[in-house]
Amino acid sequence: MRRTQKFSPRPSNTAAVLRVLREHGPMQRAELVRQTGLARATVMAVVEQLVALGTLQSAKPAASPIAIRSPGRPAEVLVLDPDAGRVVGLAFTYHEVRAVVANYAHTVLAELAEPLPLEQNWQSDLEIGVELVRRVLSASHTDPSQVLGVGLGVPGPVDGRSGVSSASSSNTWLGAVPAEEFANQLALPVVLDNSARLSLLAEARWGVASGCHDVVYLKLSSGVGGGLLTDGVLLRGRAGAAGELGHACVEPGGRVCRCGRRGCLEAYASIPAVLETAHQSLGYQVELDDLLELAKSGDRIVERILAEVGQLVGTAAADLVNLLNPELLVVAGELARAKDILLPAIAGAISAQSLRLPRECVEVVKARYGPEAAAIGGVALVLREEEHLVMPVEEAA
Ligand SMILES: [Zn+2]
Repeated sequence: MRRTQKFSPRPSNTAAVLRVLREHGPMQRAELVRQTGLARATVMAVVEQLVALGTLQSAKPAASPIAIRSPGRPAEVLVLDPDAGRVVGLAFTYHEVRAVVANYAHTVLAELAEPLPLEQNWQSDLEIGVELVRRVLSASHTDPSQVLGVGLGVPGPVDGRSGVSSASSSNTWLGAVPAEEFANQLALPVVLDNSARLSLLAEARWGVASGCHDVVYLKLSSGVGGGLLTDGVLLRGRAGAAGELGHACVEPGGRVCRCGRRGCLEAYASIPAVLETAHQSLGYQVELDDLLELAKSGDRIVERILAEVGQLVGTAAADLVNLLNPELLVVAGELARAKDILLPAIAGAISAQSLRLPRECVEVVKARYGPEAAAIGGVALVLREEEHLVMPVEEAA
């Protein structure tokens, strides 16, 4: 009697299954079949083999500490062995660098931040970032050999093809090749993008935009940055400068912006700009916390200032709503703390200035993540774009 030969999955199918589970986290078998695009029998054979090896476990669904919405379904989900690998997110703003380590179960194991001295060169920032990664690996008891990659974010436009950081008036990283520099210093694979786009990825993977494919992300902070997700694709543009919503003209001939032009959104909706407006209107200087406190206490002047900021943001966003037909406009950054005034004002301006069909699709919401957004987005970038990891150059023996 002939024995049936045991079916052994092809390595490429196993790799495809592992990749989907790494990127999307725990999921049911049916979802895994859909995400891989492989035949059901093939996926089941791979799953059986991985479960036997201990790489994969079948478990009751549990809320992930990163995820805001867990599937919450009663059926069992497939979970990768959390210790099978780890991912690092490292993100720079102009005043801070932050690092996180997450495991394959999408749980953050450690998070550290370090302030950056203003106006220093990128070599000094590089040194601080490398040291921070070493510390966060140690804090999470992670051996570098466990790390799949580092998702790196720097402010300003980044050319994803060449890896060169470019343009932007006050960009510390001007002309640097950060992915290569970090890969060689850390002896780890690194993938690079702009910090605002990484923050958008964090929201789209685990935050308020989880499961959304068409998202406009706007960060109102020391500057105004943005990111665009269209049909699930992160828009980067030829030179990595896509999504610079802060320089949309909202007041022709208006205030001078730091880019040298007049009337940019950033000249009205960044924190320094809003504080300057408040100074002029109130007759005395206030800090952001004071301003938000005044807004909360119902100060009419401050309410009006913030509502006008919201209207200008909505004006800039209205064109994008017509152009891209997003389902969500995510408002992030410290100014989003004034969401009760800002969000309705933004929605009102979009409503008044965009076409009926796209405006009926879009919802304006506050971001889930704060200062940790870009570093967590770095984790999402590694899991999503493994093939773009820049490998360290091996030292000659
Ligand atoms: Zn500008």
